[in-house]
Amino acid sequence: MEILNYNEDHRRFRRRLRAFLEKEVEPQGDQWRAEGIFPKRIWKKMGQGGFLCPAVSPEYGGLGGDFLYSVIVSEELTRIRQNGLVANLHSDIVVPYIESYATEALKKKYLPGCVSGDIVTAIAMTEPDAGSDLAGMNTSAMEDGDEVILDGSKIFISNGIIADLVIVAAKDAGVEDPYQAISLYLLEDGTPGFKRGKKLEKMGLHSQDTAELYFTDCRIPKKNRLGEKGAGFLMLMEKLQQERLVCALMAVPAAEYIVEWTTQYCKKTAISGKPLSKNQATQFALVEMATEVKLGRTFVERLVLEHIAGNNVVIETSMAKYWTTDLVKKVADRCLDLIGDYGMLEECPIASAFRDVRVMSIFAGTNEIMKGIVAKFMGL
Ligand SMILES: Cc1cc2nc3c(=O)[nH]c(=O)nc-3n(C[C@H](O)[C@H](O)[C@H](O)COP(=O)(O)OP(=O)(O)OC[C@H]3O[C@@H](n4cnc5c(N)ncnc54)[C@H](O)[C@@H]3O)c2cc1C
Repeated sequence: MEILNYNEDHRRFRRRLRAFLEKEVEPQGDQWRAEGIFPKRIWKKMGQGGFLCPAVSPEYGGLGGDFLYSVIVSEELTRIRQNGLVANLHSDIVVPYIESYATEALKKKYLPGCVSGDIVTAIAMTEPDAGSDLAGMNTSAMEDGDEVILDGSKIFISNGIIADLVIVAAKDAGVEDPYQAISLYLLEDGTPGFKRGKKLEKMGLHSQDTAELYFTDCRIPKKNRLGEKGAGFLMLMEKLQQERLVCALMAVPAAEYIVEWTTQYCKKTAISGKPLSKNQATQFALVEMATEVKLGRTFVERLVLEHIAGNNVVIETSMAKYWTTDLVKKVADRCLDLIGDYGMLEECPIASAFRDVRVMSIFAGTNEIMKGIVAKFMGL
């Protein structure tokens, strides 16, 4: 039941990526999880292999590939549970803002580095008092001649510690309407007044760094603004479809991995002389989960096709984001019950998978926000 039509170039890309990840990343995954950070040299190797920003135009060093390359990266990283290397955040969520809204000069300056892995990116929207409600953000941007002065702070920023370039959402001083006040600015590492806070200790996603960022009288060139002044909110809305699709594309392979691992475990683990998989209750549980995961994949792959065709599927991607991320949490929980006590040990990969997937219903727009979007569309 093939929905996505991968051609030979895609298949070659997947084979190369899988070989790269198996050699360079998988063997050290546990070490990086323990250290709580993903080394930048691997980002560079990913870039050298052509695995970052595959959609970026060849003019700036990219492949100019379609969204199927991003699907492949997401699936292959999930396959080895390497969610510290948030390549999809960099390639499919942050860099597209630069490609779509930066001036030609900024594209030439930053995109080749984003593709090569010399520049790791982050996007900073969330603040202690502004999560779902971005209009409530307090970080300010004040124009001063050719410069803009950023003041404020951000929290929960993925890649916050290792990022070389951060897209900062800030409110332009003097604009009353919060929806017209937000602009997006490109901020380079090393800019005076830009400081990183502590790396946050999370319950999961241990090799992915998440940090606080601080801006104090932080001056950046005015030309580092993306697009028109005050258009930040619109730009964020425009990119939501891909961002939420990326979440669903992380959730489905994660759920597949969890069900597949548990199925194999149940086949080879015996109680009272017979494999766990011979219990009817275990069989039915695995069958139900495999069915739901297949439904999720079918829906998400269909959305990938619509997205590639340029169709507006914001409502459907909101549905997919909440449904698949709830599904992966449910699957992880149920599989731990099927596995039993071994599932409580750190050496069981489902233990860390259970923690890693927990955040999926929270970030990139909470699942309640997703349902709110759909409810509005339904005229409720
Ligand atoms: C690991 C991790 C990585 C992250 N990475 C980034 C990043 O790179 N960049 C970034 O900017 N942010 C990032 N975030 C922040 C993330 O985007 C926010 O957590 C998310 O937007 C939700 O905001 P909040 O957690 O403050 O929840 P809140 O908005 O405070 O919501 C709290 C609760 O209220 C509910 N709620 C709020 N508003 C409504 C409403 N209108 N209707 C119904 N229910 C509502 C929510 O669903 C939730 O249950 C990250 C977070 C985590 C945990």
